[in-house]
Amino acid sequence: MRSNIAAGNWKMNTDVEFGLSFIKDLHDKGNHDNCEVIIAAPYISLKSMVELKSNLGSSIKIAAQNCHLEPKGAFTGEISEAMLKSIGIDYVIIGHSERRQYFHETEDQLLAKIKIALENDLKVIYCCGEPLEVREAGTHLEYVADQLNGSVCQLSQEQLSSIVIAYEPIWAIGTGKTATSVQAQGMHHSIRNLLAKTFNEDTASSMSILYGGSVKPANAKEIFSQNDVDGGLVGGASLSVDSFYEISQSFPG
Ligand code: PEP
Repeated sequence: MRSNIAAGNWKMNTDVEFGLSFIKDLHDKGNHDNCEVIIAAPYISLKSMVELKSNLGSSIKIAAQNCHLEPKGAFTGEISEAMLKSIGIDYVIIGHSERRQYFHETEDQLLAKIKIALENDLKVIYCCGEPLEVREAGTHLEYVADQLNGSVCQLSQEQLSSIVIAYEPIWAIGTGKTATSVQAQGMHHSIRNLLAKTFNEDTASSMSILYGGSVKPANAKEIFSQNDVDGGLVGGASLSVDSFYEISQSFPG
């Protein structure tokens, strides 16, 4: 059985104090038996958030938003996956469209990052998704299949158990424009078919595939009710405890 996941991505928006009070307030709202909850915070907040959630006995998982693809060396300003593991990080986001767009990360580099994350026992949220012009040209399924063929589909079946896929149409990220539940389901179904063809049905049906792109309390229920949508990767709406909590409570009973 695959897990339902509510993951927040704070991007470059929060400080240490915010991270600590968010974890405490989210923990105080009660347990999250219905889904796995993950928060991807800026690097500077990670260690104190891990310590706090451990002290609280909270099941919230803490994620980094990026990592470097080399294990160590002369890469000024970078953070390695071993460093993340050493402070108790659970997940790392790899391939967010902002990293692809602004930092020119290629599929080969993303695959290298995924492999080194797995070697360090980190789980990966791998992001994929098409720009608007590709959606308008009607070639979005092929576009995302190419991204997956160059990355996740290169892994072994065993490695896939540590991967969560997040489908994030770029035209819906931070724009307030959400894919319809039919558009999300269509892409998620296509991704699951590709996994079934590349690996097998069991592997494909055991993988969590999240939708990302302007998820908010008002649309989460509808999106999460789709057969192949196992939760969300949430940007803007994860910056408020109340709205993120409501999203985490939006899975079908
Ligand atoms: C994201 O950051 O991955 C994202 C989907 O952002 P937003 O929810 O703000 O569109």
